[in-house]
Amino acid sequence: MAIQHFDLIITGAGVLGCFHAYHASMKGLKVLLLEKDFKPQEASVRNFGQVVPSGMSQGKWQDYGRRSLEIYQSIQAKFDITVRRHGTIYLASDSTEMTLIEELGAINQKIGYSSTIYDKETCLEKYQGLRASYCTGGLFFEEELTVEPTRMIHHLIAFMKEQLLLQYKPLSFVRSVVYKGDRCIVETGSGEMFSSDHVLICNGRDFKTLYPHLFYKSDIEISKLQMMRTSPMNDFTLPGSVLSGLSIKRYESFRECPSYKKLDASEINENCRKWGIHILFKQANDGSIIIGDSHEYAEAKNADQLGYDINQVINDIILHEAQRMFRFPHWNIARQWNGYYSQRRGHDLFMEYADKNVLIITAIGGKGMTASAGLAEANIHKLFD
Ligand SMILES: Cc1cc2nc3c(=O)[nH]c(=O)nc-3n(C[C@H](O)[C@H](O)[C@H](O)COP(=O)(O)OP(=O)(O)OC[C@H]3O[C@@H](n4cnc5c(N)ncnc54)[C@H](O)[C@@H]3O)c2cc1C
Repeated sequence: MAIQHFDLIITGAGVLGCFHAYHASMKGLKVLLLEKDFKPQEASVRNFGQVVPSGMSQGKWQDYGRRSLEIYQSIQAKFDITVRRHGTIYLASDSTEMTLIEELGAINQKIGYSSTIYDKETCLEKYQGLRASYCTGGLFFEEELTVEPTRMIHHLIAFMKEQLLLQYKPLSFVRSVVYKGDRCIVETGSGEMFSSDHVLICNGRDFKTLYPHLFYKSDIEISKLQMMRTSPMNDFTLPGSVLSGLSIKRYESFRECPSYKKLDASEINENCRKWGIHILFKQANDGSIIIGDSHEYAEAKNADQLGYDINQVINDIILHEAQRMFRFPHWNIARQWNGYYSQRRGHDLFMEYADKNVLIITAIGGKGMTASAGLAEANIHKLFD
């Protein structure tokens, strides 16, 4: 029986798979995107939706992030994929963090990525509910964006189907990919077969199905994050992405600041250190506020050890820290969930050929919503130009 042939088949409709599908479809290629679930429901819908190149290390990753800002906005101009531009604020809580944000601002100024230092009064004026006892000042990146994670991917897929002729098949669990003859053959769990010139495997944290041996011998680990969302807050506005002093201590970009070494890890509260907690906020379109997060780790082959449950002790610590920073009208938690992403211990991404023309792209870590659009564009150019 003849099987349908494509220029490119992509396994996995998370943010990495979707943006590779987007750039390939924009080139006029015939693309099939296969997703195992009814709707993608992994890291790409469980996150904050912060698009923050300012948190990435200088060079390639910040460049991908900044290019992603342009890509998100160019799609938004044609189709609503929930993009909003309200900037990112890093709130410093002491003099060392204040020095670090000043240094990060200066580093970015040199490369033409603009930001503004706010003094304490300006922060208190602009960020409703911010506690004077917490904040000493802030660094604001006005170009940065947010998206609604629970909707962005679904809208992007709808846009690609409608306007770019992408073929998308949910409930299509890819169980094998092989290069045979002069093409790649892809088979789904229900026995459907497709062929293509190239296959990209953007499998997120699923390492049990396709080429498990490659992942199990790699330095890939899974991170489990705990997240919360309040019920909507009427007449209360928290614009853009809000990151705290704990994020300043954690984000890659700050490691490049001359004073980073002055940070004393022992100053981080023991509970926050133990559970990898740093505090971030983002208000969703309905007025609710997403609060997180914590980090627990396990090697790819031991990922199940991370468990499926929510540890209330961790959420209580997150809430306690968050309440030191902000006074919200209420703290009614409407939803709690775990998110899991894959990352590498010694590298910034897993991008390796598993077979001829079968390329795996995963383990982008905590930067997928920020950098995937730019990274995918570069990859599609490399593969097809
Ligand atoms: C709680 C949390 C908060 C975060 N916050 C941010 C943030 O604010 N900003 C930011 O930049 N990043 C953030 N991140 C990171 C970001 O979400 C991830 O980097 C990104 O979503 C990873 O995308 P992905 O496409 O690689 O993986 P996933 O989103 O996991 O997608 C992989 C997809 O592949 C599918 N799949 C896997 N195997 C198969 C198969 N065999 N057949 C068919 N389909 C398959 C899965 O069902 C899934 O839909 C956060 C992550 C988490 C967990």
